Amino acid sequence: MLPDHWSAKGRQEHLPHLIDEHWDIIIIGGGISGAGLLFEASRRGYRALLLEKNDFASGSSSQSSKLVHGGIRYLASGQLGLTRKAVQAREQLCQQLPGLVEHLPLMMPHYRGQLPSRLSFRALMWVYDLLAGKKYHRGLSVADIQKAAPTLRSQQCYAATQFEDAITDDARLTLRVLLEAAQLGGKAFNYCTVESTRLLKSRHEDGGFQVTVKPEDYPAIQLETRQVIHATGAWTSSPRERLEGKHSDSDSGAPAAGSDAAIRVRPLRGSHLLFPQKRLPLTKGICLIHPDDNRLLFALPWQGYTLVGTTDIDHTSSMDDPVKIQEAEQHYLFKALKHYFPASKLTPADCLSTWSGVRPVLSLKNTRKKAHKDGTMPSEEPREHKVWWQDGQLYLCGGKLTTFQSMAEDAINQLAFKPQAPVAKPWPELGANSHNQGEFLLIPESLHQMYGPDALRLHRTIPADQKIVATPYYKAELHWALAHLGVVHLDDLLLRRTRIGLLYADGAESLKIELAQLCEQYLNWDEHQFEQEWTRYQQIRQEIHHAL
Ligand SMILES: Cc1cc2nc3c(=O)[nH]c(=O)nc-3n(C[C@H](O)[C@H](O)[C@H](O)COP(=O)(O)OP(=O)(O)OC[C@H]3O[C@@H](n4cnc5c(N)ncnc54)[C@H](O)[C@@H]3O)c2cc1C
Repeated sequence: MLPDHWSAKGRQEHLPHLIDEHWDIIIIGGGISGAGLLFEASRRGYRALLLEKNDFASGSSSQSSKLVHGGIRYLASGQLGLTRKAVQAREQLCQQLPGLVEHLPLMMPHYRGQLPSRLSFRALMWVYDLLAGKKYHRGLSVADIQKAAPTLRSQQCYAATQFEDAITDDARLTLRVLLEAAQLGGKAFNYCTVESTRLLKSRHEDGGFQVTVKPEDYPAIQLETRQVIHATGAWTSSPRERLEGKHSDSDSGAPAAGSDAAIRVRPLRGSHLLFPQKRLPLTKGICLIHPDDNRLLFALPWQGYTLVGTTDIDHTSSMDDPVKIQEAEQHYLFKALKHYFPASKLTPADCLSTWSGVRPVLSLKNTRKKAHKDGTMPSEEPREHKVWWQDGQLYLCGGKLTTFQSMAEDAINQLAFKPQAPVAKPWPELGANSHNQGEFLLIPESLHQMYGPDALRLHRTIPADQKIVATPYYKAELHWALAHLGVVHLDDLLLRRTRIGLLYADGAESLKIELAQLCEQYLNWDEHQFEQEWTRYQQIRQEIHHAL
């Protein structure tokens, strides 16, 4: 069942009626954390509503490195608990959402005189595989390496170790989780900014909260809910700052923030580059140790292209400004590429697009000083999530794309009040493998990835028989997204429902006329409105997705 409030008409009809309901939970933020919360809350029978100020997954959840992984870096730094949780989440997601989350072989090349050595890395991989309960890693010869990455520097390279992680499309994963939540009654609206939350009465009287929401295309509305959960990622303000500031509400009946007041949100930016496969050919992911600082980078095959990333530096700009790659980061990434792929002779002109995101990293080090002033390197900060109470409201922040399910469970477990409806299916049935039977077998695999049980309806409505040139997408997906998947602006369609805008160096000018016709058909946009949207989309691409 598709959410009927995600069509253009449905949105206009449903927005005014949000005030008629008394919600159990309002979730602020439509990234992977918010999507996971909406699924988990709906599954347990709560009446839940998610509000996102921009598009779904427009924050960090479309700007990650796309890995669903245990994190060998966390393992190497001794974060065994986090690695175990993430490895198990990886295995589970590959089973739950085949195609959307897919196993990816990666190799660590070993060079004479450079760490990690074959011996030490294989010892690490034994532990990594032990946590997964399956042996994946194996040795590769120099010939195997050249076959998988023909332009990788072979000088001094004596072997490689292959191991297993997984890869996804983060924005499409977020949307898929929202679609699953909608099947269970969860509602989600994009382009709805939560302007304020106000305690109605003491929490002991079960009074709940008033939430002021400003939809982009509708006057502000005030909603009532028993509980608010903040899942605003890098936009979350640090508890101590909030406790010391005007938001502090000692009369709220909240569990004391107490020891959690030591948490600080440390925004850390990471950037990526995307190249055509033929300029940087790979059939497996590759781990690269940066020659300057020994940080781990990845070059990964993704969507028929090669992505390279990431950086890890303090994001000092305002979170109100667009997040984009800086010259020093681009230089840093190219330095690694020149070192490892000299034969590719890559320059910024080869780069199709870039993207950058801000990790909502929680620094738990020091209560008084800013963590980074303590000298902790960005890559050394722990990546665990944290759930805390403040002013009677619940916060979920930090963690990883990979672990979104356990993060959501952790937060929803903290609610003291009971839902009205019975508990529905548990996580492991998310996107059940119904597509192994009957008519489903006729549908292209990539449609199952994104649409799960709805893939059949999509294929029956608009047969998926024509692909968009140089992309993994079918034209039918454009129709489907415009009709059913909450597209409000053109960039929602071209940068998140699909990633077409990242795959074409010119932003897909060749599709412009066809897109104008589709937007008229499904969104009722006239020529003028389409031109405005096209300009907006191209400006976004130019400003935040262009190589410098
Ligand atoms: C460079 C980089 C690489 C990464 N690579 C990986 C990886 O390979 N694997 C992995 O597992 N994890 C990875 N991560 C981590 C992962 O991407 C993030 O942990 C995750 O996406 C955070 O999701 P979130 O929902 O908490 O935050 P976000 O996705 O940022 O969502 C928060 C949302 O809240 C919204 N919001 C804020 N204020 C309001 C308001 N007032 N009203 C309504 N909405 C609001 C924002 O618009 C935003 O969409 C990476 C992160 C980065 C930055």
